[in-house]
Amino acid sequence: MPDTFPTDPDCVFCRIVAGDIPCHRVYEDGHVLAFLDVGPLSRGHCLVIPKGHWETLDRVPGEVAAAIGAVLPRLARAVCAATGTAAYNVLQNNGAAANQAVMHVHFHIIPKFNGDGLQLAWNPQDLEDPEPLRDAIVAAMGEDGG
Ligand SMILES: [Zn+2]
Repeated sequence: MPDTFPTDPDCVFCRIVAGDIPCHRVYEDGHVLAFLDVGPLSRGHCLVIPKGHWETLDRVPGEVAAAIGAVLPRLARAVCAATGTAAYNVLQNNGAAANQAVMHVHFHIIPKFNGDGLQLAWNPQDLEDPEPLRDAIVAAMGEDGG
């Protein structure tokens, strides 16, 4: 699998994976690359990407998602240890309407200090008529073999 992942020659993250563009690498394995964000929201802001090119999380094969999930806690601990904070956000945007800027799946690890880092506008709504929605999600999960 790591030798056969999809790539996009026009994608900046694929070019980083290929070594065509340098990065400040903090971690690498067969599926995953992590590096410092060149436009950090705070000191220690890292990006964690699959080496393969998939635009959004829902397209990532389970094996690759598992590899990312396995390393996220280790990277979070390392970023916290290196920056001296215990607070951080993990952010993952899918689609332009969700503020995804590079169309190659990526997770942000964003340390939080005093006032810097990720700013969230959290505007909860009332949960209305949840059962049809819940049933639709459960049904879609049943139709998706993974
Ligand atoms: Zn890519």
